[in-house]
Amino acid sequence: MKSIEKLFRPAVQALEGYIPGEQPQDAGWTKLNTNENPFPPTPAVVAAMREAAESSLNKYPDPLVTSFRKAAAELFDVDPEWIIPGNGSDEILTILFRTFVDPHETIAFPYPSYVLYGTLAEIQGSKYKHLALNADWSLTREAIATAKQQKMVLIPNPNSPSGTVWTTEEILELVPEQGVLVHDEAYGDFRTESISRNLLDSDVGKQIIVTRTLSKSYSLAGIRFGFAVAHPEVIAGMRKVKDSYNCDAISIAAATAAIKDQQGMREHVETIRKTRQSLTASLAKLGFHVQPSQANFVWTTHPERSHAEIFEALKKRKILVRFMKFPNAGPELDQLVDGLRITIGTDEQIATLVNALQEIM
Ligand code: PMP
Repeated sequence: MKSIEKLFRPAVQALEGYIPGEQPQDAGWTKLNTNENPFPPTPAVVAAMREAAESSLNKYPDPLVTSFRKAAAELFDVDPEWIIPGNGSDEILTILFRTFVDPHETIAFPYPSYVLYGTLAEIQGSKYKHLALNADWSLTREAIATAKQQKMVLIPNPNSPSGTVWTTEEILELVPEQGVLVHDEAYGDFRTESISRNLLDSDVGKQIIVTRTLSKSYSLAGIRFGFAVAHPEVIAGMRKVKDSYNCDAISIAAATAAIKDQQGMREHVETIRKTRQSLTASLAKLGFHVQPSQANFVWTTHPERSHAEIFEALKKRKILVRFMKFPNAGPELDQLVDGLRITIGTDEQIATLVNALQEIM
């Protein structure tokens, strides 16, 4: 056989494939590129993982992840039937595509935002549209009209890479007439005020799916755990397409302990918010423009200097930030074709970054 690739589904043959941020495996990096939490998970979480490791790993885990669903339901003040956990919120997104989107259908998401949405649409064999943004990252009128016609609309809120937020009213305008809206709250805990309750309680609440991750605010990117909050009719459909045992026993133990330890999570979030403020001020002093952020990262651009060069100069010093390019962002966002997204680290990591930038600039 000449080429196995010819046997791939056409949608897969055409696929470029999603490239996640760099994850260097050697020591010594100041890693500010993939929005991880710089602090370790809280002691209660580590203890729960240890306990799970020492008991019944020979058995399959609970397919419905009851312990976690109960704890998350309490937090969101809903019945556990409103919660479905997954192997990271990326898996929840995959489940949503498999539940709602057929190959001939179209989905939409803001551009620039989370690139994976487009890749998931391509894997599914479906089409996607970009929702155009104004220079201040607000949605254009045209974007709102487009959103209404889609089968599924995905909105990261706070958005990545900008860290900007949309209000309840703005989100409700985007709910498709004959489809669903995925409100991706990967960075929701860093936001000043949560809007998930407003969305789920609205007239179109049944068409809204809130997604969350434990990778960011709960310091658990390493175990892969996320979940969705939605009307039980939605959850019932999602359950039909998920893998039987999509969450493993150790992750379930960690995630359940983490979500019960709200105080531990909040303390880390508060520290990160303060450091975000000080990094914003330091970058401004160095002549950068910094988009006001409600996430655990900032989007920054410099009016004169090459972002690619700054990225490379930092990398030489073993400091990793994310250089991001968004070609064809449309006339409104021309000046934002590329830039740097910097994850908020510890105060020490941010001091290392700012010292390096002072040398480079
Ligand atoms: N949504 C957004 C907007 C993200 O930036 C990320 C992290 N890359 C995710 C979802 C996925 O997070 P995870 O799979 O770690 O839960």
